[in-house]
Amino acid sequence: MLGKGSKLYSIAKLKCPRCHEGDLFENNSLLGYSKMSKMLDHCPVCQQVYEPEPGYYYGAMFISYGLTAGPTLAIVGLMMLFSEELTLWMFMGALLLSLVLFMPAIFKLSRAIWINIFISYDPLAAQNPQARGH
Ligand SMILES: [Zn+2]
Repeated sequence: MLGKGSKLYSIAKLKCPRCHEGDLFENNSLLGYSKMSKMLDHCPVCQQVYEPEPGYYYGAMFISYGLTAGPTLAIVGLMMLFSEELTLWMFMGALLLSLVLFMPAIFKLSRAIWINIFISYDPLAAQNPQARGH
C-alpha cells in the first residue's frame, strides 16, 4: 500500500488531504452505509476546513459518474456471460445495482479525490494545526 504523502493514500484511506492523519468522514469506511454522507467540517488533527464554501463538492458529482461507470461495466460484462443479448433494461439494472452496492464508496471516493485536487500534503500540518480554508 502507498505510504503517507501520496494523494492516493489520502484518497484510499479517506484521510485529510493536508496532514494525512485525520479522517474525512464520520464513518470512515468505504463500504459503510450508516451516516455515509456525513463529512466532518474540518480535520480533527490539523484543522483543515473540508468545505471552504457552499457547493464546494458540486464538481465531485462528475467524478462520481466516472466512478460509477467501472462497476456498471463490470456487471454488464458478467451479464453478457449469461445472456446472448444486452437489453436496455439489463443495462439499467446493472447501473442501479452498482449504485446501490457502491454508493458509499463512490460518494466518499469522489469527495476525497475532489478535495485532493485542491489541497496538497503538508508534512508539518499535524504538528502545526491551523485553521485553513484552502
Ligand atoms: Zn488534517
